Amino acid sequence: MFDKILIANRGEIALRVVRACREMGIRSVAVHSTADSDAMHVRMADESVCIGPPPGSHSYLSMPAIISACEITGAQAIHPGYGFLSENANFVQMVEDHQLTFIGPSAEHIRIMGDKITAKETAKKLGIPVVPGSEGGVPDLDAARKIGEEFGYPVIVKATAGGGGRGMKLARTAAEMENAFRTARSEAKAAFGNDEVYIEKYLGKPRHIEIQVFGDGKGRAVHLGERDCSLQRRHQKVFEEAPGPAISAEERARIGGICAKAVGDLGYSGAGTIEFLYENGEFFFIEMNTRLQVEHPVTEAIFGVDLVREQIRVAAGLPMDLHQEDLKINGHAIEVRLNAEKLPKFSPSPGRISQYHAPGGLGVRMDSALYDGYRIPPYYDSLIGKLIVHGRDRPEALARLHRALGELIIDGIDTTVPLFDALLADPAIQAGDYDIHWLEHWLEENLSAP
Ligand code: ADP
Repeated sequence: MFDKILIANRGEIALRVVRACREMGIRSVAVHSTADSDAMHVRMADESVCIGPPPGSHSYLSMPAIISACEITGAQAIHPGYGFLSENANFVQMVEDHQLTFIGPSAEHIRIMGDKITAKETAKKLGIPVVPGSEGGVPDLDAARKIGEEFGYPVIVKATAGGGGRGMKLARTAAEMENAFRTARSEAKAAFGNDEVYIEKYLGKPRHIEIQVFGDGKGRAVHLGERDCSLQRRHQKVFEEAPGPAISAEERARIGGICAKAVGDLGYSGAGTIEFLYENGEFFFIEMNTRLQVEHPVTEAIFGVDLVREQIRVAAGLPMDLHQEDLKINGHAIEVRLNAEKLPKFSPSPGRISQYHAPGGLGVRMDSALYDGYRIPPYYDSLIGKLIVHGRDRPEALARLHRALGELIIDGIDTTVPLFDALLADPAIQAGDYDIHWLEHWLEENLSAP
């Protein structure tokens, strides 16, 4: 086992990893930018190293600075968290070239899943159901039109190198194809420096269902059921739950089994998430994330496992402590993402926290790096915490979420907490009856800016 792990991240996820390390008797090293000298992850880790100025590109994304920090402190392994360098195959290569361990999958698996066409082809070969669409990239408008005719409109044109919902354009009819194709290409070129696009059948009312998988890197893998993350704003998840209100035990066993087998066949190592759109009882692969997800705590709650501990164990070459036959779902969990943003426009609201009080009690977990007097810097994303509740069933989890939100105090800045108070009162949320477009419509009707 490692003696010391460096955490190449900040905020709540850095704390999350520090906590796992401490329980495992491993020392932790925080890295930070000059803007984060007072951050909670720096205070909580055993050691810390300043790696550069505030912009991410000069600190949390600076590979040489992070490798040097390992060398200075003697850390043997790096946990990347999510975002930043977590899905950067070149970084993994560099880490390994320096005889350090990357806590995550191989550079090769990150590369395969980072390119959407290769990812989709790989998924298909492994027996995972994919969204019907073009075989690989679509070279020109004529080819795009042919695909449109073949699969039937509406279709969606997507960037091969895409991420964060960029470089994606809907063509509702044949007349819209030219514009969709050209716009998707130019957006992809601008955002990713790669204008290759592919085309998929557009699903009208799907849910976003993702399967948590975990592999030991030697061919054994398990699944930990699904998370329903359909409630999204601009393709960003805001509310996640497990198990999915629309998924039956039979469907879970079937799609989970397919995913676990695929990941085992790949020889995948560590935590991963296979994302699907789910419509009319069918699953359609959209992508695989080769890292720990923001929403992993809902899975931890219902299965009673520590996914970060498991990541560290497998990276250290110990046997994976997860066995499919032991993985039984207990109750229901919900996570809400709390952002430093001002409603109704969700404009960033950094600043000083004058008062912070975290909710507690049975079934409540608050993952946050806030504290009284903390000043949220303006340089990073606006997630300031995740409130996770666990109950015996969905109604109990909803009631607990309502109760916990009532206890939470974050003063001094604007947050998205009022959004969840309002959402919880909505009958569709109470019933679990929503798809990936539901929240955008709801926001238009209920929160539109004056
Ligand atoms: P990104 O990596 O940019 O997030 P994804 O492929 O994961 O791109 O898609 C992001 C979101 O776009 C999905 O969660 C869904 O809301 C929408 N989307 C993607 N593909 C389709 C499709 N074929 N039909 C309908 N919506 C889609």
